[in-house]
Amino acid sequence: MNKYDEKTLALIEKLWRKGKLTVSEYRQVIDGYSLVAAEYAATCAFETRKAIYDNTVFVRGLIEISNFCKNDCLYCGIRCSNKNADRYRLEKEEILECCKDGYEVGLRTFVLQGGEDGYFTDDKLVDIVSSIREKFPDCAITLSLGERSYDSYKKLFDAGANRYLLRHETADGEHYAKLHPPTLTLAKRKKCLDNLKKIGYQVGCGFMVGSPYQTDETLAKDLKLIEQFKPDMCGIGPFVPHRDTPFSQFEAGNVGLTCYLLSLIRLIHPPVLLPATTALGTVHPQGRLAAILSGANVIMPNLSPQSVRKKYELYNNKLTSGEESAQEMNKIKQQVQSIGYRVVVARGDIKK
Ligand code: SAM
Repeated sequence: MNKYDEKTLALIEKLWRKGKLTVSEYRQVIDGYSLVAAEYAATCAFETRKAIYDNTVFVRGLIEISNFCKNDCLYCGIRCSNKNADRYRLEKEEILECCKDGYEVGLRTFVLQGGEDGYFTDDKLVDIVSSIREKFPDCAITLSLGERSYDSYKKLFDAGANRYLLRHETADGEHYAKLHPPTLTLAKRKKCLDNLKKIGYQVGCGFMVGSPYQTDETLAKDLKLIEQFKPDMCGIGPFVPHRDTPFSQFEAGNVGLTCYLLSLIRLIHPPVLLPATTALGTVHPQGRLAAILSGANVIMPNLSPQSVRKKYELYNNKLTSGEESAQEMNKIKQQVQSIGYRVVVARGDIKK
């Protein structure tokens, strides 16, 4: 081992003990990414998650309810200015049908994700959320529908939603401005995250690894934000280019670095629920399993109707299994078992 690795390992060990570092130390840990460092971080993350979750992996059914979006995020395939996107939205009955399919195969969390689609007013969403709550009382309902007002988040919480995923995307304001149109700001995003927490949701933030203009410094700020915000969930996946966006020529994010960051996040906030994202599986066939071995403990199989899965194209070559969800679940269970973990039928709330 060289001197450089020794220094990085010492900082990872400090992070394991204390759960925090300075931004400058985080930058050094990121800059010190190597096979040796990644292996050590994964070993520490393994011990950490085992103490809390043993070898269990939680599964959530992802339902992509709409690919209409009023926003124009430069990285995203469903941005409003992409005229090639084939737009769709699901009706309440279709969403309930997806939940029914998922329930039958053992899913106890439903994640409703979509673009910021004005069609889904508070009234429409309250109706959908309360119907799911009534029909599936033992399930958790997670929403991932972007920025909404405090009152809107509150109405949806009161209707029965439990969790909300809203990635912060980057904790650096200037970087944020390079990824988004001027209508979206980091300050607004953080306000939404604070509101969600205040209301009582289990809240998830997160970011893409390898997004254009990302640096070790911006990543260090992401880790600091996670350390301070202590999200219940954290979505980390590689950036993957989409042909019809201004970022079509940028390279996809690195799988190894993504896994390294997952391990570090496990050490920063041990009980966090960390998904092995679809984007990881898209960039590498073993990406999701590698993520679990690095500290992730959640998988989100797709429950959307087969006919719309390709249309929810945030990035090119998105993994969309051609199989029915039941078969997909069996495959996931077997894969997870093959690396020594087990999928459980449970809501899978954060253990605090
Ligand atoms: N509209 C909601 C929101 O903004 O939170 C939910 C949908 S949005 C498409 C979900 C996430 O997809 C974003 O937070 C972003 O990080 C991720 N995403 C979008 N484009 C991507 C790309 N090209 N590569 C990887 N992830 C991407």
